[in-house]
Amino acid sequence: MTARTMRQPRVKPEHRAYRTVDGHVRIGSVVHGIGAEVKDPGGWVWTLVEAMDGSRGAAEVVAEVCRRHAGLPAEDVVQAMADLTAAGYVEDAGAPPPAELSERERERYGRGMTLLRWMDLEPRESPWEPQLRLGRARVLLVGVGGTGSAAARDLVASGVGALHCVEPDVVELSNLNRQTLFTERDLGTPKVDAALAALHALNPHPAVTGERREVRGPADLAALLAEGPPQGGPGYDALLLAADRPPRIRRWANEVCLATGTPWAEAGYRGPLVAVGVFTPGRGACWECLRDAEAERRDLRLGPGQDEEAASPRMDWNPVNAMTAGLSGSLLAHAALMLLCGIPPVEPGCRFGLNLMVPGDPVMQRSERRPDCPACGTVPAEDLP
Ligand SMILES: [Zn+2]
Repeated sequence: MTARTMRQPRVKPEHRAYRTVDGHVRIGSVVHGIGAEVKDPGGWVWTLVEAMDGSRGAAEVVAEVCRRHAGLPAEDVVQAMADLTAAGYVEDAGAPPPAELSERERERYGRGMTLLRWMDLEPRESPWEPQLRLGRARVLLVGVGGTGSAAARDLVASGVGALHCVEPDVVELSNLNRQTLFTERDLGTPKVDAALAALHALNPHPAVTGERREVRGPADLAALLAEGPPQGGPGYDALLLAADRPPRIRRWANEVCLATGTPWAEAGYRGPLVAVGVFTPGRGACWECLRDAEAERRDLRLGPGQDEEAASPRMDWNPVNAMTAGLSGSLLAHAALMLLCGIPPVEPGCRFGLNLMVPGDPVMQRSERRPDCPACGTVPAEDLP
């Protein structure tokens, strides 16, 4: 989509421009990562953003700006309109509503569409495109505990196409402080059954399925990924890992996703630290690269042969509440949106989140792909799927 092919170019309502006291044009909302400031000594950029109100075709916008600024070359206006469009600030007010969504679905997802439009910096035929992409996506969710049930709730509410949930456990009383898909009535019921009932009640449109199944090794994950959703054909667009048992499950997910080229994310918490890791095979660090880089960065000053657990004790219980589990699950659902819709664009091979002890102190782990990585280091990037 370019400025020329737009029927009625309009600055996105969420990106509405304003003029600073020194006459610059600020557009894209004053949000780091979205907004920009344009110098406008002639004042015509301001006229241009005002003229792009969705009431005119592209040629009429150019004519209007040139009419009000005598001597201004039309090609300058055309170029500025192209630049603003390429930067993601302009939508087509003349785009018809998508036939793929019923009126009821458009009402249900309308607010989410406007947030995606705000965060989206890709020019689109229609602002509904990312929502449609989410609605066609197939996601495998492993683990429907604290993180997983929050991620499932968020994705189903947001209109994911198909979600297949895998979880072996039953609902216990000690789960109910955080696993908010479940109620007292579900005690003793397999979590998958209770989750499916709650998710269907929340939104009947997505194809939500599940099975009571334990992942015991990489072969189980590979089989789940290969099978695809029931009645949906093989494969998934993304794997979301929300289980922390068995302890090696993240390593297995990394291995299987590298082998199959499946984008994936994992989220969790350690006390007040909540974070999500996002990975795309063949692009950036894999989970193992990031883990090794982080071990070096943290410089735990452990003695030779001393286990890392000395610094991060494991307990038989799980210190967590609805806040840490909910944030973790919402970050996982957000990572799914990044992977499935590209909003915001994925920086693969990173982990980000929050430290609830220190507001303003984000968790941020980044690494290059490591040539010595035991998982992806032996495979040249071009040979990855
Ligand atoms: Zn690696």
